[in-house]
Parts: sequence; C-alpha cells; structure tokens
Amino acid sequence: MTPLSSPLNRRVADVVLTTDPVQRLRLAQAGLAMLLMATGVVAMHYFVAVGSAPAAAVWAWTVASLAGMAVFFVLIRSGWSRRQRDPSLTLAQMLYAITSGAVAYALVGEGRGGVFPIVMVILAFGLFQLRPREVHAVGAFAVGLFGAVMALMAWWRPEVYTPRVELGHFLMVATMMPAMSMLAGRLSRMRERLRRQKADLAQAVARIQEMATRDALTGLVNRRHMLELMEQEHRRCVRSGHTFCLALLDLDHFKHINDRHGHAGGDEVLRTTSREMQAVMRLSDVLARWGGEEFVMMLCDSRAPLARGGVERLRERVLQLRFELEAGPAAITLSAGLAEHHAGESVAQTLERADKALYEAKAQGRNRVVVA
Ligand code: GH3
Ligand code: MG
Ligand code: MG
Repeated sequence: MTPLSSPLNRRVADVVLTTDPVQRLRLAQAGLAMLLMATGVVAMHYFVAVGSAPAAAVWAWTVASLAGMAVFFVLIRSGWSRRQRDPSLTLAQMLYAITSGAVAYALVGEGRGGVFPIVMVILAFGLFQLRPREVHAVGAFAVGLFGAVMALMAWWRPEVYTPRVELGHFLMVATMMPAMSMLAGRLSRMRERLRRQKADLAQAVARIQEMATRDALTGLVNRRHMLELMEQEHRRCVRSGHTFCLALLDLDHFKHINDRHGHAGGDEVLRTTSREMQAVMRLSDVLARWGGEEFVMMLCDSRAPLARGGVERLRERVLQLRFELEAGPAAITLSAGLAEHHAGESVAQTLERADKALYEAKAQGRNRVVVA
C-alpha cells in the first residue's frame, strides 16, 4: 500500500484537485459532498434490500444524485465556476443535495427518519460558507420542500407516511431551521470580526515597519535602517566582486535658515530638499537622513566617476530650489563628500573617508562634491 503522502498520490491529487490552493479547497469540499452522497446511496440500498424501498426508483435516484454531484465537481474543476459569484457553487450544491434528500424521503418509506441527519450535515456545510441571508433562504427552501413532500406522501401513502407522524416530522424540521439560521448568523459575525482584526493587525504591522525604517520629518530612510542597508550592500558586493559608493551630504549654512526663518522654516527646507533630491536619484540608490541637515547616499553597484555624476545631480537640483518662507524667499546649497568602497574595508571606514571629503568640500568653499 502506498502512504497518502507518497509522490504518486501527491501527483494524482495535483491532477485531480489542481495545485491552486483555493481551487483545491473548493474541489475537496465538492468531493466530500460526493462522498456524503455516496454514504446516503449505500443507506438507501439497504432499505431496498430489506424491502422498504422500490429498487427501480432508488436506482434512478442514485444515478441522478451521484451524477448531479459529479457535474458540480466538473464545473468547478474545469474553471467554469470561476465566472460565478461564488466559484465554490456551495448554494447550488446544497439546494441540489436537499432536493435529493427530499426525494429519498419520499422513496425510503419506513427508513425516512435517517434522511434528517444527512440533511442537517448538508446544512452545516453552508454555515461556514454562505452569508446568513443565504442560509435563511436554504433553510426556508428545505422546510418548504420537505413540508410539501410530507403532505404529498401523507395523502398518497397514508399507511406508511402516517399523517400524524408526518406532522411531527414537519414540526421537527420547521423548528430546527431557525436554530441553524441563528448559528449561521453567529458564525458569520465571528468571521467578520476575525477579518477586521486581521486587517487592523496588518495595518499596524505596516505602520510599525514604516516608523522603524523611515524618518518622520522627511520620509527618507532613517539612520538605523540605512546602517542595515549599507551592511547588506557590503555583503552583496563582497560576494559579487562589485563595488558601491557612499556619499555624505550636508546643507550649507543651514543654521542661517533656522536663524532667519525659524525652526518651522528650516523643517520646510529639509522636507522639500529631501523630496527633490529623491526625485533626481536612480531607483537603485538610497538616500537616508543621517541626522539634522546631513544625509547619506548609497550608490549601489557604482564606481566613483559614475557615482560623482549622481551626487552632482542632487547638488544641482538643490541649487535650483527656491523656498517661499514666512520671513521671505530663501535658497540653499549642498556640499558632499564621496567615497568608493575599497575591498577589505568596513562600511564605517568608507563613511569615515566620505566624511573627510565632505570636510574638504566645506573647506574649499561649499556647494561642491569632493571625491575621497
Ligand atoms: P555648514 O555649512 O558648516 O554645514 O553650516 P551649518 O549651519 O549647516 O552647520 P551645523 O551643522 O553646525 O548646523 C546644523 C543646524 O541644523 C543646527 C541645527 O539647529 C539644525 N537642525 C538640526 N536638525 C534640525 C531639524 O530637524 N530641523 C531644523 N529646522 N533644524 C535642524
Ligand atoms: Mg550644514
Ligand atoms: Mg551639519
């Protein structure tokens, strides 16, 4: 015997149930419904064997019931049901199974009490799938159909379907349905609450991640996250043999902006400058707020001459900016020190050389890029 998880069984399962997990779940459910129907079929044939149900009619019922469930399976497996509002076809399958149950009730004579638990199981399927309104509708359909079949049989074969017993059966079905509907409502509310909690949690995680990796004022990558990104790039370059560049950028005479336009004016300059610098950067490069009016730029996979062009673009963009602040118009310039990472060097050492180059840029008169 091959175990259930053997490669062959898994391949057969992949072919029958597909490899799409959602589709698999629908088909597994339809398969389970078919299995349930098959056990009902066995029970029905027992009543044929003991002479309580007519063989020809039960055979016709058997073929119709199993073929109907097989059709549902095929409709789902072929992808046809994907075009429907509910691709699992739960509602249609339930209505079909309840109808099959009602016909079985009419055929099986003395054994008809056995139909009730099967119908309850069919209804239980819907509790997890359908909306409360649909469960109510299915319940009403079952009560109506079974009521009609009971009335018909009590009139047609009163010697087996004794009217007072049928009335009792009907009362049982009619009182159980509202209870099922109530359960469906409760389950649906629980599902809704879980869905909401999951969405809230996902939102909170995204927010926390944003807060942990971004600078609140400028929206740029923060210092802590930048340290991680630089280490990551360092490791990548050690493996690949490529190299990267780091630039330290500092706004010139930023204290003057604060002194003249206040801290809020300074913040506005920081925000706009950050946004504009990002707009002229390569997508693969990263700009972080390192602290105050200092930034670190990482130019991935680049040698110094190419990287210099990238940093110059930022400097030129900042030079063009004009700010309309409360105390009047303002402009600002940017100095930068650029260092290419050398093999065997740590990130901190490359940053150190970039810092020295920045100091040099300031000493040479600012508004320039110096390469270490
Ligand atoms: P230099 O050209 O030599 O860099 O001159 P500087 O005035 O820019 O030099 P310094 O680094 O000494 O001054 C930076 C100023 O930036 C001092 C500080 O008050 C201000 N600053 C730091 N963080 C913020 C902030 O978040 N918002 C505002 N508005 N100002 C800040
Ligand atoms: Mg400065
Ligand atoms: Mg500074």
